[in-house]
Amino acid sequence: MTAQLIDGNALARQVRAEVAHRVEALKSHGVQPHLVVILVGEDPASQVYTRNKVADSEQTGLGATLERYPADMAEADLLARIAALNADPAVHGILVQLPLPRHMDSSSVIEAIAPAKDVDGFHVASAGALMVGQPGFRPCTPYGCMKMLESIGMRDLRGKHAVVIGRSNIVGKPMAMMLLAANATVTMCHSGTPDLAALTRQADVVVAAVGKRKVLTADMVKPGAVVIDVGMNRDEQGKLCGDVDFDGVKQVAGWITPVPGGVGPMTRAMLLVNTIEAAERTLA
Ligand code: NAP
Repeated sequence: MTAQLIDGNALARQVRAEVAHRVEALKSHGVQPHLVVILVGEDPASQVYTRNKVADSEQTGLGATLERYPADMAEADLLARIAALNADPAVHGILVQLPLPRHMDSSSVIEAIAPAKDVDGFHVASAGALMVGQPGFRPCTPYGCMKMLESIGMRDLRGKHAVVIGRSNIVGKPMAMMLLAANATVTMCHSGTPDLAALTRQADVVVAAVGKRKVLTADMVKPGAVVIDVGMNRDEQGKLCGDVDFDGVKQVAGWITPVPGGVGPMTRAMLLVNTIEAAERTLA
């Protein structure tokens, strides 16, 4: 078997087009949706990510501002800036790019964002809302993975076994919650899981979110399974690759996401969805 590809770039284009329509609709009600992205320090990867977030927003008609601050900014000043943005009705989404400089406490900073503007979905109120099935913002990466499953007709996962490898707060845990909400039977794995392959071999859906190459190989996958690769790693040649041994696993899986061109573009697109959603809620 050769797996079919879930094309994150194509799906993200579709999502962005839908967001652009929603932006137009909001503008006709006199609302210009606006995202503020905050970057503290000079981390090269963060500079690229934040620039992309602003460019993606502008491309869909969302207003976006990148606020850059020096690495030695006092945490109190950042908190004060977030408080001002929370109170500004022209700002609908606030995103603080992580990692923050070491002298700052990321949790305190994220918790300072008003949950109604928490478009990254990292606030404990957002995590809690997801946990108990209330409306709130979903973290963009697992949200994008769910959209990828929906795109292949897997909106309701009743009767399916999903195995999530990785339990971070931003990917693994919310992923498991979203799969559960879609009625999957969910198993969460992590570095302390003794026999990962025994579990993944039972899975109809595997989500790999570890950050290590070849965590999932062909012998670990049930024929026909859906494999979602969240990982972003570099191979020996410095080329971007995921957690999944793509060439091997694609011979066994039914569907597979590539890296690059899979979960990454969908993560970017779902930030736009959360931002338009935040702006729409102000009208409700
Ligand atoms: P993280 O916080 O480092 O979490 C990694 C998880 O993997 C941990 O729960 C860890 O277990 C588990 N793990 C480590 N080694 C393992 C092993 N051998 N077997 C099973 N589980 C193992 O990473 P993250 O932030 O969730 O990110 C995961 C990957 O996704 C990274 O490559 C990251 O760059 C990528 N990512 C991609 C996107 C995107 O848009 N494509 C977005 C976010 C993240 P313990 O908890 O026991 O340590």
